[in-house]
Amino acid sequence: DTEKSAIFIIFGGSGDLAHRKLYPSLFRLYKTGLLKDHFAVIGTARRPWSDDYFRGTVITSLEESFDDDKKIMEEFAKHFFYQSHDVNDSEHYIALKNLAAKLDDQFEAGHNRVYYMAIAPRFFGTVAEHLNSEGLKTKDGYNRLVIEKPFGRDLDSACELNGNISKAFPEDDIYRIDHYLGKEMIQDIPNIRANNPKFEAALNNKYVSNIQVTLAESLGVEDRGGYYETAGVLRDMVQNHIMQIIGSIASDDPEAKDAGVIHKNKCDLFASLKNLTPEEVDKNFVRGQYDTDELGDEKAYRQEDKVAEDSQIETFTAGKVEFNSKRWSGVPFYVRSGKRMPNKASRIDIVFNEKVSELGIKPNTVLTLLIERTNDHSILINGIDYKESGQDFIKFPEEPEFTKACEAYESLIIDILSGNRVHFTLWDELRSTWKYIDSIRERWDSQKADFPNYISGTMGPDSAEMLLERDGNSWIWD
Ligand code: NAD
Repeated sequence: DTEKSAIFIIFGGSGDLAHRKLYPSLFRLYKTGLLKDHFAVIGTARRPWSDDYFRGTVITSLEESFDDDKKIMEEFAKHFFYQSHDVNDSEHYIALKNLAAKLDDQFEAGHNRVYYMAIAPRFFGTVAEHLNSEGLKTKDGYNRLVIEKPFGRDLDSACELNGNISKAFPEDDIYRIDHYLGKEMIQDIPNIRANNPKFEAALNNKYVSNIQVTLAESLGVEDRGGYYETAGVLRDMVQNHIMQIIGSIASDDPEAKDAGVIHKNKCDLFASLKNLTPEEVDKNFVRGQYDTDELGDEKAYRQEDKVAEDSQIETFTAGKVEFNSKRWSGVPFYVRSGKRMPNKASRIDIVFNEKVSELGIKPNTVLTLLIERTNDHSILINGIDYKESGQDFIKFPEEPEFTKACEAYESLIIDILSGNRVHFTLWDELRSTWKYIDSIRERWDSQKADFPNYISGTMGPDSAEMLLERDGNSWIWD
């Protein structure tokens, strides 16, 4: 790839996301040469830091993940500048504009701007509006707005946020991050489907018994109790990441290359989500909140810092999602996510039925796509590496792309710099998924939950097992 030029303006440049994810990813791009001479990074936050102090924090964060020569880190850090900034102060945007213009001249950055919102979500709209009204957007380069999660907390707030940012930026310049879309396996699913016609022919309600998506964490909320109390796992993981994972496996036409077509197929899939009545919510979704562990050593959720003693926030959910589409009607998509589960795991299990033998796939085969690779396995067939499974419906002409091991944020930043929006979420997708999630949330908010209801280090409440048993199914990962 050739060198890219841009001025990055990172709102929340002193924060955790910026230091833990963004700066290390930019550094990797620097080492590959994608970023070289023609870029600069302006970090902004309220604190009055000097450039030197800011560069020091950047280097410290790099030292945690890299053992490169400090000289390279220092060279890289010379591209970093700090501007103290309050999101509500118009004057500060003028200062930012002038600094960006100056650095653009200095580094010959082609008038390109990447505005990255690594800041509390309540500021996203304000910042976007000011960028527009104070004239930060350049005339001859590009101006791309990057929005972190969460994108709203329900359909109404997401609509309001979207209204605010779309007054300032056209949809084509908005990059809404869902970092699961930056993960290699998720990006590779369309290729796997497109390159394996037998597998693709089996991906529908004639041959699939059910599909299971699990995003399990072994940790609790740690120091993010304050944020978690406003969210819960349904908003934090299901509305965005799990839905997008389903989008990658279940939307039509994996061969499509055009971003517009790919997004349309995903929008169509989400538009066919079978929305739930309150009674269906009770039947199809279960919720849980972790208690201490078997030994009583770990904190229960309600004992965590900044968490209410009687918190009704769920740290676990399992549910049955269905679609009203020709391809998928009748196939349950069982989804599950939780904290304090036995292991960290991110996986998709596709359970085929008996009829699949018509296509030359052994009846009742289970295909597992590991989103987070373990012991170098990425794809399992009936629990063993696909290459040793004795079945040939998944093959690769050459080593699959998912061995390239690139960090999600790195890959997403490359896309932003290249103007490739395939791996970002569109407003239409969010509208459908929020509508779906809201019906569950509203039902739950109207009923008191009997929390805590699962022991830390377990697979969640028993109701999660019963959800599948009732349909004659069971979780593949248990
Ligand atoms: P953080 O609290 O560590 O950082 C927030 C930043 O905003 C700081 O730099 C702070 O100085 C700045 N800030 C706060 N008030 C300001 C104001 N009035 N004017 C200007 N700057 C102000 O938060 P974070 O964890 O880095 O998260 C940032 C965003 O990224 C949030 O939207 C969060 O939801 C999202 N996110 C974070 C993570 C993560 O791993 N940390 C993961 C996914 C998404």
